[in-house]
Amino acid sequence: MPHIVEVPCVQALAPSLLAGYDWALNPYRGCALDCLYCYAPDVVGIGRSTWGETVFVKRSIPTVLAKEVRKKRRGVVGISTVTDGYQPAEKRLEITRRCLEVLARARWPVSVLTKCPLVTRDLDLLTTIPAAEVGFSIATGDDRERRLWEASCPPIGARIEALRAVAGAGVRAYVFAGPLYPESQESSVRILARLSAEAGAAELIADSLHPRAGALERVLEATTPQPRREWHERGEALMLALEDECREVGLPFARAQNWKPRASSGNGGDDHLVAARAAEEQAPVLEQPREVARLAAPFAQAFPVDARLHEFD
Ligand code: SF4
Repeated sequence: MPHIVEVPCVQALAPSLLAGYDWALNPYRGCALDCLYCYAPDVVGIGRSTWGETVFVKRSIPTVLAKEVRKKRRGVVGISTVTDGYQPAEKRLEITRRCLEVLARARWPVSVLTKCPLVTRDLDLLTTIPAAEVGFSIATGDDRERRLWEASCPPIGARIEALRAVAGAGVRAYVFAGPLYPESQESSVRILARLSAEAGAAELIADSLHPRAGALERVLEATTPQPRREWHERGEALMLALEDECREVGLPFARAQNWKPRASSGNGGDDHLVAARAAEEQAPVLEQPREVARLAAPFAQAFPVDARLHEFD
């Protein structure tokens, strides 16, 4: 189990440059899932050698968020743009859930990306959020391949069942197949396409492996892939197989670099914002400070303070 360290939060919503998101929200810095290819250590400035050992928790982020949704421009909030907001610590701490409570009450659109079935715990909230969606990060349909690259992550079957539950609850669910492992077989990604379609995914977005320095060394040490010069070729072969199988099963497919927010009439191409605008007039105004205090209360005794560090983002 990783060491949990509490850090203060000075900003909950950070402007996002990612397609489809206006804001990024990351309740945790650090991630116990410790995927081989993870680039997040470089993004948040944590040493790669200690990644996975310590998870920094922004204890006050729901309180800060409750203030920010009153002041900032309403837009799509991407949850887990850097580290997984449903990693194991969330089961006990429920900080991502408290953030969702704030966003649901303020009726802000939300897009979650995760590898963890724990997100289904929050379907009661997600089903009340306009244009909510949940993406499941799944790179292969073969758990033997998954174990090598994402040893601490939930098995593929658990993620597919979680996707099924999300879609079944009426919340848009999609699969982010990335990064595709150069070692994967074409048959494995074809299975992924079929599993995704059968479970009710609305879309599959795929990306190749782009290891940064640090992650690259880990990948090379821990796997026995083809020589690196063949990675691009393998990635392209997997991408084509995935695209072909998606076509076979009628699942919309996009490469990550080409993906665009879903088109809709009259809003310049973003369903999230249509729904957000429609919801805006009904949005309740949080009563300050009583409402903020109520939302923050569960955190006061949630866990002891190990340390207080300066907020990174
Ligand atoms: S789940 Fe995401 S943030 Fe966590 S280690 Fe894996 S890639 Fe990194």
